[in-house]
Amino acid sequence: MQIRKDPISMNWVIQEDGETSWPNLNACPFCPGQEALTPQTLYSHVNNKGDWEVRVTPHLRPLYRIEGELQRSGEGVYDKMRNLGAHEVVIENPDHHLRLSHLRDENVAQVLRAFVSRITDLKKDRRFRYVSVFRNQGRLAGQEPDHPHSQITATPFIPRRVVYELRSLQRYFSLKERCLICDIIQQEMAKQVRTIEWDDEFMAFCPFASRVPYEVWVLPLQHHHAFEEDLTTWERQLHFARFLKSVLRRLETVAQDYHVTLHTVPNLNAKYERTDHWRTLLDDFHWHLELIPIRLTSSRSYFLKDVYYNSVLPERAAEELRKLNIEPLS
Ligand SMILES: [Zn+2]
Ligand SMILES: [Zn+2]
Ligand SMILES: [Zn+2]
Repeated sequence: MQIRKDPISMNWVIQEDGETSWPNLNACPFCPGQEALTPQTLYSHVNNKGDWEVRVTPHLRPLYRIEGELQRSGEGVYDKMRNLGAHEVVIENPDHHLRLSHLRDENVAQVLRAFVSRITDLKKDRRFRYVSVFRNQGRLAGQEPDHPHSQITATPFIPRRVVYELRSLQRYFSLKERCLICDIIQQEMAKQVRTIEWDDEFMAFCPFASRVPYEVWVLPLQHHHAFEEDLTTWERQLHFARFLKSVLRRLETVAQDYHVTLHTVPNLNAKYERTDHWRTLLDDFHWHLELIPIRLTSSRSYFLKDVYYNSVLPERAAEELRKLNIEPLS
């Protein structure tokens, strides 16, 4: 496998020669008792009975390999490199059928704690420019296997979507000396037309130019550039767990399948990072979660060349999600 860069769009593409399939397993490799089917345990939370509740292991079919060097090379105008990186799986709980939104608050907080721990650890590796956390919920989102899990990747490049965010947030800051996302939060909270849920620490809303019906962003009200440095106390992890669960359960009333992506600050320890270029990064970048639902009924929603078509007004989507009566699940 290699990573190729499209010189026009600046997109990095993981290029494989034929798709590798899942190893032929008789049992779910993420269920308790099957630990030997996964390479090794990178992180775990074990309860007082000695059983694990969260477990992180290398991916069975990794997109990236951790060993070796990057071997950047050119081919005329083209750039390519080895698929150096890390690809891990966060097994969110031992129960094969219990999805994240239905776990107990404490268990969701343990999953968040695992994210914090792994991101922090991977960012110590100076070869990696970015650490992504994402979650594919449901078959339409590409979830495989069914056992509830999230994925973490560490890459020698910054994903294009994040590069665009970094650029526009930096540009806005250089003009106004304010964080654009803080300004968006303030405006949305004042208008209350696209907000879904909020408390004194977090808020969720449908973005003004939502890419798909019921797109939702979840973010901290107080400015913070890094998820892994913001959610360090158990209290805050538990608070965010409770908040996130409620938002996910709202979303699940309109879409069973969705993607969750965490956008946190790039790796500031990375080898070639020009720190000068990112002088204002801590002030201009604001971490957030993006929730992208996939609905069968939204077949008219498509994107072509990155222009999206969305048939549900974000104001209407937010109103629907806000009005839902979600009973707290502890
Ligand atoms: Zn399982
Ligand atoms: Zn901010
Ligand atoms: Zn983002």
